[in-house]
Amino acid sequence: MKLQFILDWIRKIEDPQSLSHIARAASDRYQQLINDSKHASRSFSVGDVVSFSLSNGRQLHGIIEGESKKNLKVLAENGTIYRVPRAYAKKESTAPIKAKLRPVARVESVLPLVLSESERLLNDSGLRLPVRYKRRVWSTHFRPNRHIQYGERCLAYQLTPVRATDNVGANLRRFKLPADIPGRLAMLVCHEVSHAIAHKRYGPNIPPHGRQFFVVLSELVDSEFADIRQKFQKLLS
Ligand SMILES: [Zn+2]
Repeated sequence: MKLQFILDWIRKIEDPQSLSHIARAASDRYQQLINDSKHASRSFSVGDVVSFSLSNGRQLHGIIEGESKKNLKVLAENGTIYRVPRAYAKKESTAPIKAKLRPVARVESVLPLVLSESERLLNDSGLRLPVRYKRRVWSTHFRPNRHIQYGERCLAYQLTPVRATDNVGANLRRFKLPADIPGRLAMLVCHEVSHAIAHKRYGPNIPPHGRQFFVVLSELVDSEFADIRQKFQKLLS
């Protein structure tokens, strides 16, 4: 339906009572839609396929990767991760998008290598730090003096054959490295360990992704990236 046509048509109405009826009907319909979407939003869960529109009107489909009270974290078919307000997401039951965005391997199949390579790099730098894994979350991070954590959702994303649009993808492009799945996993390991090394070398007051961090990351990329990528390649072949 053409919105502009309807608006133009309304502007031509002369009878106030008719306008009042139209206004009430529009308001009732609006309230009904909002209530429906509120109701629907309660039933969203991780793994569901949803559709949503960008501000330019383009419609996208994606899979819910995480959720908060107000927003859904959606991995879209174009590989980008969007924060979508619950009220703007529409649940879809289509399977094709799910097939397209499915990880090529189970997280559990690469997890041991992710953990052991991280521990090896930490050891080589004289760092004693637990490396842990957390299920059902995205959060992958370094916490000073506590741990490096890999989140299940983040690992699943690295295993999904879309154009990487996260930090890992940005790092791979920065160093002009192959952004295939083994490359993404290798970069993820180098990235998290670089945080730990940079913290030890430069102290606690450096910015998380500042100059010092990239000095360390570029060292690890030079000395370790190709090797680690090859290990993941072998594992996944
Ligand atoms: Zn980081």
